[in-house]
Amino acid sequence: MGCKVKGSTAPGFWGPSIKARVEAEQIPGKVIALLWDKLLALGKDVYLWMEVKSTTPSMMACSCYKDTVKRPDITCASCYGAGLIPGYVKFAHETIYWSSITVGSTITNIELDTTIKPNRLRLASGQLTGTAVSPPLSYSNARQLNWDVKSDLANIKNTNTVTVEFSTNGVIYYPISQINDAGKKPIGTGSITIKITLTRINIEDRSPEFEIIRLRHPTKDDPYIKILRSQVTEVPSWLQYGMRTEHLAERYWTVPLNLFDDTIQPDTPAARILENSIYQRITGINRENRYVTTKLSYSEEFTKFTHQSFDVRVVQPEEVYGRLVF
Ligand SMILES: [Zn+2]
Repeated sequence: MGCKVKGSTAPGFWGPSIKARVEAEQIPGKVIALLWDKLLALGKDVYLWMEVKSTTPSMMACSCYKDTVKRPDITCASCYGAGLIPGYVKFAHETIYWSSITVGSTITNIELDTTIKPNRLRLASGQLTGTAVSPPLSYSNARQLNWDVKSDLANIKNTNTVTVEFSTNGVIYYPISQINDAGKKPIGTGSITIKITLTRINIEDRSPEFEIIRLRHPTKDDPYIKILRSQVTEVPSWLQYGMRTEHLAERYWTVPLNLFDDTIQPDTPAARILENSIYQRITGINRENRYVTTKLSYSEEFTKFTHQSFDVRVVQPEEVYGRLVF
C-alpha cells in the first residue's frame, strides 16, 4: 500500500486524486459495459420517435401556424403540432418527405390552398385533373432495406381519385405501393421523385387535397433501442467516494443512443432521449401501444454520459402521438 504521509509521491498512493483513479480503472467504461450487458440480456426492444428540432436536417417551418393563436395546430398531419415538418422522426431511420409547401414542386392545373392551415394542394378551379411533381428527394439506402410510406390526403367524394407514384429517374413512374418491388426499390444513393394526380368527375365537386407524403427506411438492421424497467438498486452510479446505487423503482432506463447507432457522437445532446419522445414495443402483447417519455434524467460518471432514465405514460386516444405519428 502507498504511504499515507501528505504530499508523498510514493507509488500506489491514490488517495487525493480520485480523477487519476477513475481514469486508471476506466470506471465510466465499465459502468456502460455493465449496463449494456444488462440491456442485452433483459431489455425490451422498442422503436423510438423524437420530435424534430430546428437543427434536424431538412426540417421546415409548417404552414399550420395560426395567425390568431400564434402556435401550431396539434392535430396537424404535417408537423404533429411541433411547428416543424416532419414533426417526429423514427430513430435509426432515414425519413424523407414531400410537403404541399415544399419549394420547387412542379404543378399543373393545381394550386396551393392557403385559406386552410396547413396549406394543401388542390385542383385549380375549373380543372378536372391535375398533377404535382416533387423536386428530387435525396436518399441513401446502402443496406437496401424496405421503405415505409404514408400519404396524408383528404378526399371527400368517392368519385374523386388521388394517385401517388414514385420514380428514381424522373422519367418512369410506378405506383407507390410497388416501392419495395425488386428492381423498383430505391437502393444505394439517389433521389426519389413523387408525382400525384388529382381528379374529380364534376367541376363543382370539392377537390381532393394533398398535404404530405413521408417515406423512410431503416439505416441499420436493428433500428431500435432497448429499455429496461428498473428494479430497486438497479443502476450503479460511481460518485466521488465509491459506488452507490440509484433507486429508480418505476422508471425505465437505457444507455446513451450512440450505443445503438454509431453515427451518433458519444457525449453529445444527440445521444439523449428527449422529453415527449414516443416509443412502441416491437414484441409482446403491448406492442400496439405507444408511450410518451417524461421526466428525463441523464447520468454522467466523471463527465462521461453513461445512462438515462425516464417516466412513461400511455398515449391517450385523443393525443396526436397515437393517431398521427408515422
Ligand atoms: Zn403543422
